[in-house]
Amino acid sequence: MWKKVYKLIKKYDTIVIARHIGVDPDAMGSQLGLKLAIECTFPEKKVYAIGNGSCKFNYLGKLDKFENIDKENALLIVLDTPDKRRIDGAIPSEYKESIKIDHHPFVEEICTLEVIDDTASSTCQLIIDLIYKTRLKLNANKEVMEKLFIGLVSDTNRFIFNSNGDLFSCVGKIVKDYDLDIVKLYQNLYMRSMNEVRLHGYIAQNMIITENGVGYVILTNEIITKFQADSGSAGNMVNDFNYIDEILVWAMVSEDKKNDLVKINIRSRGPVINEVAEKYNGGGHKMASGARVTTMEEAKLLINDLDKVCKKYIKEVGYEDN
Ligand code: AMP
Repeated sequence: MWKKVYKLIKKYDTIVIARHIGVDPDAMGSQLGLKLAIECTFPEKKVYAIGNGSCKFNYLGKLDKFENIDKENALLIVLDTPDKRRIDGAIPSEYKESIKIDHHPFVEEICTLEVIDDTASSTCQLIIDLIYKTRLKLNANKEVMEKLFIGLVSDTNRFIFNSNGDLFSCVGKIVKDYDLDIVKLYQNLYMRSMNEVRLHGYIAQNMIITENGVGYVILTNEIITKFQADSGSAGNMVNDFNYIDEILVWAMVSEDKKNDLVKINIRSRGPVINEVAEKYNGGGHKMASGARVTTMEEAKLLINDLDKVCKKYIKEVGYEDN
């Protein structure tokens, strides 16, 4: 499969690399890592990494302004995105050919060539595999692997969500081959402002726990503004609340005033949550999902559904087996 991907990359002079809306380090790291790997091998090609960025991830590199390009003669690569509606800034049918590379569970076919492995920890892990198994490896440099490492570590939540032998072999290989300085890379990924730490404290103090172990907190625009955060970084804090004895599933419900939305970031350490997320204009992985609704009432219905999923899980599997 990677040979087919490489052949298409080789064939096109213009390549556009897109990923999902609501950028995160795996989406942006895979995008910029692949862009750089292609440029190192084919310096004459024009490669664009597109989509809305976030100042939080500026350290990963710069995204490109979308110039007027001849899409009918260009290749589109969509990373880390299972469905059309979540692609940030590209429509696959407008391109001559397109490739999807993704680790989400399959939702729909959107590209002419699709490489999906939902057992992979991250899209960055798939891009590392692509590089190692093709001629991209001959010219890939340390900077390429740094971007991919950051995305991989972030999406596994520092190896909490995924930790198997293949993943550690992959990480061991790039750290050794490219002499990666993990301590330096963690500085960028994990540095927080005092305001963020205080917001974290607010969440811990105000988390509500339902009867069957759903922990959730409602972050209104007023609260988010008080801590000088934005709804994106507030929602991201969902990753900080794993391994709480009384909680099986947890969610950040944050008001996004700018877009008139309520975003819900959900995590689980047992019950499958993506089916509930799908019911509320969302989706994602079995244990890490997200949804978008328009009112707090809808968000509460979602929490109620999560509670039902937990109840069923406790009945079938038990609480202690986690
Ligand atoms: P997040 O909480 O934003 O880190 O997202 C966790 C997972 O859920 C990621 O795989 C996202 O791509 C996915 N996800 C988040 N929000 C949505 C949504 N509104 N629709 C579909 N998938 C989503």
